[in-house]
Amino acid sequence: MLGMDSRGSVAVISPACPACAKSAEDAATERYGNYELFRCAVCDLQFWEPRVMPDARWYEQMYSGRDVKLMPLEPGHKYFLRDPLAPGRGELLDIGCGTGNFLVAARAAGYTVSGTELDRNAARFAKEQLDLPRVLGLTMSEFVEKYPGEKFDIVTFFEVLEHQAAPVEFVEKVKSCLRSGGYIALSVPNRERWLTGPDVLDYPPNHFLRWNVSALRNLLSAQGFEILSVTEQLAGLAHTAQMINMALRTGLTRKATGDAPNSFREVTQMGSQEAATALQAEPTVRQRAVQFLGRMKYVACFPLAIVAYPYVRLRGYKGTYLYFLARLVQ
Ligand SMILES: [Zn+2]
Repeated sequence: MLGMDSRGSVAVISPACPACAKSAEDAATERYGNYELFRCAVCDLQFWEPRVMPDARWYEQMYSGRDVKLMPLEPGHKYFLRDPLAPGRGELLDIGCGTGNFLVAARAAGYTVSGTELDRNAARFAKEQLDLPRVLGLTMSEFVEKYPGEKFDIVTFFEVLEHQAAPVEFVEKVKSCLRSGGYIALSVPNRERWLTGPDVLDYPPNHFLRWNVSALRNLLSAQGFEILSVTEQLAGLAHTAQMINMALRTGLTRKATGDAPNSFREVTQMGSQEAATALQAEPTVRQRAVQFLGRMKYVACFPLAIVAYPYVRLRGYKGTYLYFLARLVQ
């Protein structure tokens, strides 16, 4: 962005950090379509500009297929459920609860559970199939507006914060439904994870924010939280196989991803209507053959991954998940 400084000459105005409001470092560090990635030198957050979150229908389209079945628990869920510093009981609200996999596990662990999910199909599945009556098909803002007096002992939001356009406002809404001394638990993709190529899901408008331990610690401390536990997942065998697969991009897969009109990263750039059409289109025979060969190639990477794994562990390469547990002290 360009602007005039006090002497009338043209100066570059870097955007304000959405977490700490300070000006970002001047130059964008990455470009993608019309988006630019900046880094805040003060709080260490990386954020894309511009940030306009898509509507609920867009997420329903992008994550369709995940909304009518019970997904396995993610590492972030498991870190929380075995975290000795977590309260272990009380009223829990899970934001972005999907089809309710974590809520079922948290209920079994002794929590009284509620959830919000903006994908209405997923919310319906949780309610009807998993006997979770307190799952509401609402955004966080709608929930806070509709139930202003409702308070919880713990609010969880796994893989949610990276999607936010305005993280401070999001955390303020979380705080508004926490009892005093209440807990939060969350996970985000760790931007320091081991990558050998671009992670197609980690781009706007799907993700707007890239977190690491220090950026998350800075945001939560500034918002009045005491950090109780931090876990950075280490790269596992499947992650190692995936990274070897990514590093060994063959001519075939490069050509296929270049050709395929409906590759995920492209579809995420579409509006919800256009995306629906693209996602519902039957893959061509050629696309199907390429997908099959791609899967074979990934499987073939496992023996290589087994050989490489001791080195990966020795070097301490990080996996995808970054988990935090914190408690409100103000
Ligand atoms: Zn900042």
